[in-house]
Amino acid sequence: MVHETGYYDLLGVNPTASPDEIKKAYRKLALKYHPDKNPNEGEKFKHISQAYEVLSDPQKRDLYDQGGEQAIKEGGMSGGSPTDIFNMFFGGGGRMQRERKGKNVLHQLSVTLEEMYMGTTRKLGLQKNTICEKCEGYGGKKGALEKCSTCKGKGVHIKIQQIGPGMIQQTQSMCPECQGQGEKFNSKDRCKNCNGHKVERKKKVLEVHIDKGMRDGQKVTFHGEGDQEPGLEPGDVIIVLDQKEHPVFQRQEDNLVMKMKIKLSEALCGFKKTIQTLDNRELLINSSPGEVIKPNQVKCVQNEGMPLYKDPCEKGQLFIKFEVEFPEKDWLPEHLMYQLERLLPPRDDVMITDDVEEVDLCEVDVQSQEKKCSREAYEEDEENPRGGVQCQTQ
Ligand SMILES: [Zn+2]
Ligand SMILES: [Zn+2]
Repeated sequence: MVHETGYYDLLGVNPTASPDEIKKAYRKLALKYHPDKNPNEGEKFKHISQAYEVLSDPQKRDLYDQGGEQAIKEGGMSGGSPTDIFNMFFGGGGRMQRERKGKNVLHQLSVTLEEMYMGTTRKLGLQKNTICEKCEGYGGKKGALEKCSTCKGKGVHIKIQQIGPGMIQQTQSMCPECQGQGEKFNSKDRCKNCNGHKVERKKKVLEVHIDKGMRDGQKVTFHGEGDQEPGLEPGDVIIVLDQKEHPVFQRQEDNLVMKMKIKLSEALCGFKKTIQTLDNRELLINSSPGEVIKPNQVKCVQNEGMPLYKDPCEKGQLFIKFEVEFPEKDWLPEHLMYQLERLLPPRDDVMITDDVEEVDLCEVDVQSQEKKCSREAYEEDEENPRGGVQCQTQ
């Protein structure tokens, strides 16, 4: 049913990705390629934003899945500016705010699941503009500001050029001498510390408190810690948490999910197993003899999920999905099979008539078959709009 996958490829997700996966993919890429961080990747930022704008809206995504980029263009459905999409996603940064306040700065901070479980403090060193201490943001000696001689105080350069007989072109550009201010300090009055720029680059260390139960994508805001500029209230530094994948646990809201491999004998006859928690405790779980665990069966342990944010004494649940490992071929000599069979539930009787055709059961390379099936499912959409596509073998 999906014709084109370009937008999905841009975000690095599958066409079957959930809205959450799409959000997370956009968040990571948008922070990485934002022009503030990566001025040379403007095009990439634009494309990512376009893809996100479409795929985050169920209606537009549907249209894209059916008719590709063409359908989106014809439907007049794209058009938000990359910056607007970005601001909408991360919040804030509206135009009103920008006038009296400096820009907010976003940073991504990679955090482990353990850190979100136990809580921690991370130190983050950032470079930022601060008002020059020497001249207090004045740029030079007080009262020594002079009219710029280059532009005669206008702040701009006007260049008049004859471009043809009787044709004159007038171009205007910012005066490089005074940076368009119209005034400047002469070299002896200019502040030596900031070279007249009024601000200096300084390192600032922020302490980011990761509270127990914080989530992937959660923001920690440091008000007024953005770049300083004379006459402007500084913007905020916003830290966006980015949870690293964990080798054992997946997080679903406040719950944890893990897979556990057990042997067929354990599935049928019971077992004891230990689980290492995110805060390094050891849990013992057991399945008593007589219980049967089926392949992919899910069981849960209460109160061993993630701590709840702001209420960390409460925890979610820990879900365990069991994968039953069956023995390999020829694990049991044939003469013992019959003993095993006596112990297992009896098999079904099968009616074999003269009409049946006996055929061979062959081995199949499951992975390459699955790939083939999913591709066919995408292609075959006219007669079969939603799923229900049969896998054909050749
Ligand atoms: Zn200075
Ligand atoms: Zn000037």
